[in-house]
Amino acid sequence: MGRLEGKTAIITGAARGIGKGIAERFAKEGANLSLLTRSTSLDETLEICRKLGARAEGMTVDVSDPVAAKNSFDKHIETFGGIDILVNNAGITRDGLFVRMKDKDFEEVIKVNLTGSFNLMRAAARVMIKCRGGRIINITSVVGQIGNAGQANYAASKAGLIGLTKSAAKELASRSVTVNSIAPGYIVTAMTEVLTDSAKDQLLKSIPLGRFGSIEDVAAAAVFLASDEAGYITGQTLSVNGGMAM
Ligand code: NDP
Repeated sequence: MGRLEGKTAIITGAARGIGKGIAERFAKEGANLSLLTRSTSLDETLEICRKLGARAEGMTVDVSDPVAAKNSFDKHIETFGGIDILVNNAGITRDGLFVRMKDKDFEEVIKVNLTGSFNLMRAAARVMIKCRGGRIINITSVVGQIGNAGQANYAASKAGLIGLTKSAAKELASRSVTVNSIAPGYIVTAMTEVLTDSAKDQLLKSIPLGRFGSIEDVAAAAVFLASDEAGYITGQTLSVNGGMAM
């Protein structure tokens, strides 16, 4: 029996990268899934998840739009009848030195990474409170913990997400709803492919385990936090970073 057998989950940004990896792993563990994307087609992820035996439905939505996010959540409830797990994975970068950063680049990153997560968390929490149980997992970043030159907007959004996680964890604990974050370090995906080879070499030197992380490394942490085994863990930030920050 899978570790998420019969559970129902929403995963944002599930068409590629870490979100796709989490969707596949959740499907293997027996979960049924609503997968959200903004523009990339979900066809491949849906096909893999269904082959693994999951009931999987896709929706195209910009999570930073509060009305669209709420509508997608309502549609999930209509289709599946409940929610056990929410994974806020959708995220963007708009890198640049902060003294030169355009308002738009700052606001857009906060809107997607922080407000987008809030939009779905609030909708999910209302249902989880009534059901007296649930798991919320927010994908933050090592950059939100230690900062990064050229990523002030991204770091602020991810640090904000850690604060949001902890506050929601305190508010929801009495209803057995847990809220945790995962803070990946450098994971090999499209988001990090854009780095130059010299930047990658430099980064590698700062990772005690001596390798970049994989999508599977993050997906394994998400399964754990979503599972019954993690019932006594809330308000935490689980670092999946090869020791890059301790
Ligand atoms: P990708 O860029 O590969 O994927 C990001 C996903 O988020 C895409 O599916 C994208 O959809 C979706 N998305 C972006 N904006 C929106 C939006 N407004 N509404 C809905 N969906 C949206 O990133 P990764 O897989 O690398 O990263 C996933 C998460 O992990 C992000 O939150 C990222 O910040 C975090 N992270 C990643 C690290 C890494 O090293 N890769 C390290 C630390 C944290 P679409 O395809 O349609 O654009």
